[in-house]
Amino acid sequence: MPHGTALPARYAVFGHPIAHSLSPTIHRLFGEQCGIALEYVAIDAVPESFADAVHRFLAAAHGANVTLPHKAAAFALADERSAAATRAGSANVLTRRADGRLAAHNTDGAGLVRDLVERQQCALQGRRVLLLGAGGAARGVAWDLLDAGVEELTIANRTADTAAALAGALGVTRARARYWQDLAELGSFDLVVHATSAGVLGQPLQLPGTLVNPQTVGYDLSYGGGAQSFLRWAREAGARAACDGLGMLVEQAADAFALWHGPRPLTDPVYATMRAALA
Ligand code: NDP
Repeated sequence: MPHGTALPARYAVFGHPIAHSLSPTIHRLFGEQCGIALEYVAIDAVPESFADAVHRFLAAAHGANVTLPHKAAAFALADERSAAATRAGSANVLTRRADGRLAAHNTDGAGLVRDLVERQQCALQGRRVLLLGAGGAARGVAWDLLDAGVEELTIANRTADTAAALAGALGVTRARARYWQDLAELGSFDLVVHATSAGVLGQPLQLPGTLVNPQTVGYDLSYGGGAQSFLRWAREAGARAACDGLGMLVEQAADAFALWHGPRPLTDPVYATMRAALA
């Protein structure tokens, strides 16, 4: 029985496409570790059918994860929203409360920060960070990077207005937008976070090597094949470390699991299993 409800322990991840999703495996491994029996499936929903599909599923289930391209729609259809979801304007977790109301959460930013700081040993306090992209994922992580003490958050996006809007929404002088075509003039950063979908879409991404110095960590939110071209670029440019988003995926899932079930599972064993599976 899920934490605080009488609903069946049924969960799903909604996305389109969704066949590649690792979330069902990650949540099943968490469940085994914590002795919690649960069912977790992947549901492919096109944008036009997303709201209906979610409402139908959550009529007899406790929660759902939401991924590309539904995070903004998930935020919109909820009855109540956590602070992290509200500031990002998107949700990756939906929970059905005992009174039937749908609550939206966003655990992406906390997942990224935890992976960076605890697993990748990448301190954030006082650091200069470049965030490439200003879509849903970038919005989901930007506030958490600032909360973690980043001194300067530079946002560059192919569509400049979106980067400017995100920098404006962040509302602090530590966050600023810069034109994508000016990347070569920005100097190097302590951390370069790649949050565009170019890699996943198989589109080329031209980045100047001057963004990197020998202490730079390059971090791609994607994992698997979609991360390869950014990781190659970071290594060739001389970065200290080049990391994919598998750790973030596992950490954001652990936070969702804790929202649904109470205990936060240990993530290292599940990360190791998923890393081996990806290899
Ligand atoms: P969105 O569709 O919301 O945003 C896509 C972003 O990528 C936009 O900023 C867009 O710019 C930019 N972009 C797309 N194509 C190109 C290109 N060819 N060149 C430069 N920029 C481009 O996607 P999300 O933000 O939701 O997802 C981004 C990535 O993050 C995905 O790969 C996703 O898998 C990953 N992710 C990983 C998570 C994890 O747990 N590890 C969690 C969440 C996301 P423009 O505004 O100009 O269109």
